[in-house]
Amino acid sequence: MRQEAAVVKRNEVKSNGVDDAYDLSKYGFGECEMDSGSGASRLFSLLASKDRDFLLSPSGSQVKIADLEGKIVGIYFSANWYQPCHKFTPVLANAYEQLKNSDPGFEIVFVSSDEDVNAFDDYRSSMPWLAVPFSDLELKRALSRRFDVEGIPCLIILQPNNCKGDSIVIDGVDLIYRYGVQAYPFTKERVEELLEKEKDKHENQTLRDLLTNHERDFLISHKIPKQVSVASLIGKTIGLYFSAKWCFPGVKFTPKLASIYQKINQESSLNSHHQDFEIVFVSSDHDQTSFLSYFQTMPWLALPYGDPNIKALTKHFDIRGIPSLVILGPDGKTVTKQGRNLLNLYQENAYPFTEARVEFLERQADEAAKNLPKSEFHSGHGHRLTLVSQGNGGGPFICCDCDEQGSGWAYQCIECGYEVHPKCVRVVDNGP
Ligand SMILES: [Zn+2]
Ligand SMILES: [Zn+2]
Repeated sequence: MRQEAAVVKRNEVKSNGVDDAYDLSKYGFGECEMDSGSGASRLFSLLASKDRDFLLSPSGSQVKIADLEGKIVGIYFSANWYQPCHKFTPVLANAYEQLKNSDPGFEIVFVSSDEDVNAFDDYRSSMPWLAVPFSDLELKRALSRRFDVEGIPCLIILQPNNCKGDSIVIDGVDLIYRYGVQAYPFTKERVEELLEKEKDKHENQTLRDLLTNHERDFLISHKIPKQVSVASLIGKTIGLYFSAKWCFPGVKFTPKLASIYQKINQESSLNSHHQDFEIVFVSSDHDQTSFLSYFQTMPWLALPYGDPNIKALTKHFDIRGIPSLVILGPDGKTVTKQGRNLLNLYQENAYPFTEARVEFLERQADEAAKNLPKSEFHSGHGHRLTLVSQGNGGGPFICCDCDEQGSGWAYQCIECGYEVHPKCVRVVDNGP
């Protein structure tokens, strides 16, 4: 399922599960290598072709490329048939409308990967910006190559006038998701400033700030007492579980999480006679009834339904999809946002999710992999599967057996990209 794995961007899942949230390099600020010696402007040479010096406006009229001179221009690679693009386009449109109102010096140009002109027209009707005509396939290919576009949606942001240092931002999608219009004007300085601010916020975060507000200093519990004070959780490792009943992968993951939660706490109560690990359900359910019936299946605590902290936490931790498990250490600081991924890879052994723990587990997995067969037949797939690792044909993937994320070691079908966790292989003697 390699094509789906591409949705999980490589910079979001590092093999050690440690987040690189403040790493500026992930935005790929790059040099512009365009030769502008010909006298033609850089934008013009990028966007025009032999017999075309215009782009299409939303109404279908022609807009001269020269009119974009001096503007900050986002080149938006996207396609109607791809769900992540569908999700991003309205977010971008919203930011675009806000920016256009305050600063006309910004423009976006859509470069389509749609399958035909009808799909293109249909998709474009949801976009308030310009587009490269659908028929200009050659230019589309050239732009993809020029900017090394590996996946969509992709937003390349070009700064006007100069060809120096920070003129290109590669991961504009991430910037827009994370910061919206605040990211404007998308310069290196601006992004540095935002990352710095965010880093401060995270370094100073406390459990109390995250989980309480003026009206509420408790979480809700199934057991008596029905309210548990947030203060009583200080010093524990906390998992913030972002989930909802309407989310099928969440409903599927919850019982697994519950069983692991119980195992971790059995273990820790043997050693220290108290519970060191707690989970807090952060619900994005649409109504109280779904919330209550979903929470009923969980042996841990929850923020009340509709609580204002839910929105704040989602933003603070930049949660893009659920289910998601953010781990906070005993000091209230973030240990990792990859809790779900780590539990899928290592089950209860992942606890306490620290970098040191993950490194230890990775070494252990590498050791164990030495004893794994180089290839295997699995009852769930017709072809022979080959053992791959991070550095050797593998990488972050979605397991075709348990539908959960994986990274590091995997069994992969070279022919069709089918890929499973080593633990998910059910060995059969030879191909069915
Ligand atoms: Zn699996
Ligand atoms: Zn296959």
